[in-house]
Amino acid sequence: MKAWLNFSPSIVNKRVIADLIKNYNINFNILKANITPKGGKMLIEINGKEAEEGIKFLEEAGIELQPITRVVKKDEDKCIDCGACVSLCPVTAIKIEEDWGVEVDDELCIGCGFCTYSCPMKAIKIIE
Ligand code: SF4
Ligand code: SF4
Repeated sequence: MKAWLNFSPSIVNKRVIADLIKNYNINFNILKANITPKGGKMLIEINGKEAEEGIKFLEEAGIELQPITRVVKKDEDKCIDCGACVSLCPVTAIKIEEDWGVEVDDELCIGCGFCTYSCPMKAIKIIE
């Protein structure tokens, strides 16, 4: 699953993520992070046998976890299916369908944001 982790200022200097990876049998990817001494957010992907226990550990450590199924949102009213975002996606999560519509595969998307910068219509946004 993918989720945003919210770090309060009191938690940013603690070894929570290192302990999570060390102590639990999980696959853990950091897709995006913006953390300063004042707190911040991290977009993660967490899977594996002990993912549920790992999530509980994060929450008990004081990290607020916000599960998401979609990383980006495409505004269908604004999108003109120009395709400018397609080639810029590093994980080929954006595809042109048979009807020439442009679709985002939420499973593949890693939230890098390249598509949001490339869109002339400002039709794609990262969901936070
Ligand atoms: S945010 Fe990045 S990975 Fe996700 S669809 Fe856009 S370009 Fe692709
Ligand atoms: S760049 Fe913007 S307008 Fe063009 S296909 Fe992608 S989302 Fe739609």
